[in-house]
Amino acid sequence: MRFSCRHFKLAVPPTIVANSNPTNVLAALKEGMAQLRVAQIPAHTLATELLLMHALGRDRAWIYSHAEESVDPATAERFLALIARRATGEPVQYLIGKQEFWGLEFEVTPAVLIPRPETEHLMEVALARLGERGIKIHMDTGAPREKLQVADVGTGSGCLAVALAWELPHAEVFATDISAPALEVARRNAARHGVVERIHFLQCDLLSSLAYADPSNLGARHSVPASGQDVSHFDLIVSNPPYIARNDAALLEREVRDHEPHSALFGGPTGIEMYQRLIDQARDLLRDRGILVLELGFDSAEHVRKLFDARHGWTNVAITMDLAGIPRVLAAELAR
Ligand code: GLN
Repeated sequence: MRFSCRHFKLAVPPTIVANSNPTNVLAALKEGMAQLRVAQIPAHTLATELLLMHALGRDRAWIYSHAEESVDPATAERFLALIARRATGEPVQYLIGKQEFWGLEFEVTPAVLIPRPETEHLMEVALARLGERGIKIHMDTGAPREKLQVADVGTGSGCLAVALAWELPHAEVFATDISAPALEVARRNAARHGVVERIHFLQCDLLSSLAYADPSNLGARHSVPASGQDVSHFDLIVSNPPYIARNDAALLEREVRDHEPHSALFGGPTGIEMYQRLIDQARDLLRDRGILVLELGFDSAEHVRKLFDARHGWTNVAITMDLAGIPRVLAAELAR
């Protein structure tokens, strides 16, 4: 008597044949997905596709139209090595070295935070605030305006500085970061998108290199402190500062906690310490009606809102929610 295989299905435990490398595209996809599923990696299908695309140097359309195409042993090996690293928690973006932000592709390394979609709200708010006031020309005379002066504090990958320079062709951008390796990544991203000539990269804590200097005197690499000068030149200052509370480290996903740079994540014991210093420095640097736009941590809106005191000239303070309904971006204007 013969039994159909189906009768044995539940009795046979699923096995992963780890040592037989996949020999074609479809087998590679299946193997990668199986391993990441067993490792309980979220979005394991997408992760497998991205890693296979990277290993093969092909796009998604090619992969799904070449399921039977053979994969050479060296490529299969490289792909499985990436899968193994993802299975132990390394983010896909560090494995493939890139992440999209604002429709632009950014190089990312473990020296920089991976740009998040939430941070695109910061771009929207900043551009909307600038757009409200006819920034490209003088509305009354029609004459071109002087260069817009923009600063991005803690630029990381440079995603905000580069996307703003890209959107605002008449802007000069000052991008700061305390990390030299991060600034190198940011500089390559600026070059990649053709805006490196208009971005000055400064290694410093928050805005400290700019606080006593005339931005028009700053070279691409060096700050020239010139205390006593009027430093209030900035039309726009943006920042996605490190805002996670040290005490919350244990609550983070391991992808974030074990792989992203801690200097980009943690803002002090409660996470809001950084904001006070940043807001004080920004107040010295913004011109009359200058705009400050900050990304907020998931529970920091109430605390940060209180730091914008009308007695210090802050007006027009508004908070924007992200798509998950979390207060994500705070924008304010300074009246001098
Ligand atoms: N400005 C970068 C970003 O928005 C880096 C932010 C950070 O390192 N905290 O992704």
